[in-house]
Amino acid sequence: MCDCNLCKVPILPILWSDDNFRIVLVTDQNIKGYLRLELLEHVSEIHQLSQSIKHQMYSLLNIIEINLINIFNPDKINIASLGNKTPHIHWHIISRYKHDNFFPESIWSKPTRNNLFENTNEEISNLKHQLTSMIKQQDAEQAFDS
Ligand SMILES: [Zn+2]
Repeated sequence: MCDCNLCKVPILPILWSDDNFRIVLVTDQNIKGYLRLELLEHVSEIHQLSQSIKHQMYSLLNIIEINLINIFNPDKINIASLGNKTPHIHWHIISRYKHDNFFPESIWSKPTRNNLFENTNEEISNLKHQLTSMIKQQDAEQAFDS
């Protein structure tokens, strides 16, 4: 049996998903505007993906970044793919603020402040709505191109 955490159904809220990917809202790290893009299939490195999945992945990263900027107005976006503990392709897309608990270090460093950060219900619902509509629009454009 696979004991990979990302192969299990996530406990965190899923904002969008299709047959290849899901977008999860990370709510357990005391950070506002933090999403994870997770490949559904257990694959560990990007070069193992087909061109079309890679294309979809970068397009989703781009859409996620735009939506985080629109909704959360962060000072910076951080995008990371590590997978040392969970070697299953996933991306962390994180809104960063000069006053967040880790800035300017990575969110995995030791916190230097102790403020509380939570997404509002309105932000979550906007995010869900705008991600879905932008991805739908992108899919329609690609169908038109091919
Ligand atoms: Zn996995």
